[in-house]
Amino acid sequence: MRPGTVILVIEDNEQNLELVQFLLEEAGAEVRAAMDADAARVNLAEKAPDLILMDIQLPGTDGLTLVTELRARSDLGRVPIIALTAHAMRGDRERFLAGGCDGYIAKPIQVSTFVEEISTYLPKADLADVHDATPVT
Ligand code: MN
Repeated sequence: MRPGTVILVIEDNEQNLELVQFLLEEAGAEVRAAMDADAARVNLAEKAPDLILMDIQLPGTDGLTLVTELRARSDLGRVPIIALTAHAMRGDRERFLAGGCDGYIAKPIQVSTFVEEISTYLPKADLADVHDATPVT
C-alpha cells in the first residue's frame, strides 16, 4: 500500500488492535485507533481516512450500527469499510455487505495474508512501492 495510507481501526480488543496496528504500520500505513464508536466519531471529525477497519462487536454502539451512521455522512464519501469479526456464521458476509461494508475479514486474523487482503480495497500502490513489480524493459 502507499506509505502514509491512513487507516482507522475501530476495535475494542486490545490484543487484536495491537496486532492489526503492528501489521499495518509495518506495511507503511498510518494507523488511527479507536476502541469504541465514540472514539471513532472523534477521530472522524478530523480528516477522513483512506480505509476503515470495523470490528462488529463493540461495547455501546455496535459496528454495523456505526457503519449505517458513517454511510449517511457525506463528508466520508465512499471510504472502504471492512468488517472485522469473529462471527463467521452463514449469512454474515451478506449481512455485512448489505449493511454498507465493502468486505469482511474473519478473526483470528491470518497474519500472512492480512495486509494483502486490506490492500485489495485500496487504490493500487505506486510502482515504486511494489516489491515484486516486473521491471520495465
Ligand atoms: Mn470486539
